Amino acid sequence: MTHALFAGRLLRWFAVSGRKNLPWQSAPTPYRAWVSEIMLQQTQVATVIPYYERFMARFPTVQALADAPADEVLHLWSGLGYYARARNLHACAKRLMQEHGGEFPESLAAVESLPGIGRSTAAAILALSRGRHHAILDGNVKRVLSRVFGIEGDPSTPATLMRLWAQADACTPAQRVADYTQAIMDLGATVCTRSRPLCTLCPMTEDCVAAKTGRQAELPGRKRKLARKSREATLLLAQVSLNTGQSILLERRPESGIWGGLWSPPQFDSEDDALAWCRREIGEPAQAPEALRPIEHAFTHFDLRLNPVRVQCAESDAVREEGGRLWYTLRSPPRVGLPQPIKALFERIRNDEEIAWRVP
Ligand code: SF4
Repeated sequence: MTHALFAGRLLRWFAVSGRKNLPWQSAPTPYRAWVSEIMLQQTQVATVIPYYERFMARFPTVQALADAPADEVLHLWSGLGYYARARNLHACAKRLMQEHGGEFPESLAAVESLPGIGRSTAAAILALSRGRHHAILDGNVKRVLSRVFGIEGDPSTPATLMRLWAQADACTPAQRVADYTQAIMDLGATVCTRSRPLCTLCPMTEDCVAAKTGRQAELPGRKRKLARKSREATLLLAQVSLNTGQSILLERRPESGIWGGLWSPPQFDSEDDALAWCRREIGEPAQAPEALRPIEHAFTHFDLRLNPVRVQCAESDAVREEGGRLWYTLRSPPRVGLPQPIKALFERIRNDEEIAWRVP
C-alpha cells in the first residue's frame, strides 16, 4: 500500500468513526494537548478523562501549574501512577515560564528538550494543537504500522525503531496533520488493538500485511521478557489520636525511586526494624502492634508486597511535622500526593472504622 493511500483511507475512516469529543479536543492548545498526551502515556482514555478534567479545572494555564506547590500537583495525580510524569509536568511548566514566557516553543527540537517530553510527544503536541507537519510514533502507532507494513522485530530496538520512524514520517500527510494524528492513535486504540484486532472493521484490511497473512498476533515483534522480581517490606502505620482525629505518620519519599515525591508511611525491611524505629523516633507503642491485610502491587518490573503494621502511639508522642513528615488525618486528609495502594489502604481503614462505629 502506498503511503498516500494509507493516509487517505485513515482520514476517511476518521471522518466516520474517529473520536472527536474527547475533552482535550475542544479548543486545542499546546498546553491542553501536552497534559492529555502525558496522562495518556500508559493509561487508558476512560481512566484519564476525570483526571484531566480535575487537573484542568485546577491548573487552567501553564502559569497556574508552574505556580502550584508540588504536593498539589501530585495530589491531583494520585491514582494515575507513573508519578515521574507529574513531576516532569510541573518542572516543564516552570521551564516554560522561565524560558518561553509560558508558551510552547515553535520548533520540534525545542519542545523535545523540555522535561518529560520525548520525540513522539513533542510531535503530537505540535501536530494536534498547531497542525505542524510532524510524525508521531507512540505504542498504538507502532502497532498499526508494524502490522500494515509487515515491519518485524522488537519495536524497542534501535534498528526496528528507525524503520518505524521512517514509515511514520512517510505516511504523515502534509495537510490535515491534526486529524491524521488523532486518527492513527484512534485506529490503534479502538480497532487495531493489541489482542483481537477488529480487522473486518478496519480501513486497511485489504492491504494489511498482518491481516493478509494471519500474523496479527506476531506483529509487532515481542520484547525480550525480563524475569519478574518480587520484593517485600513492612509498612509502619504509626497512629495517634489528635484533636483533628486519628492521624497516621507519613514521610515524603525521596525524589528518585518508586513513588518519588509522594507521601507514604515509613517502610522497613522487617517488623522488628519498624518497631525499633517507632520506639526511637516516636515512642513506645501504647498497644500491641496489629498486622493488617497485606497490599500487593505490581510495578513494571517487579511485584511489591507491603505488610502494614499498625501501632497506636500516645498523643504526646506525635513528632513534629518537619523534615518531610506529616500527620495524615484520615477524616480530613491534607491535599498531598499518595500512591494508589496507600490511598486504597487508608480508604479501607476509614471504612473499617466506620463499621466499628456503627456496630455496637
Ligand atoms: Fe490492524 Fe487488522 Fe487493521 Fe491490519 S487490518 S491494521 S491488523 S486492525
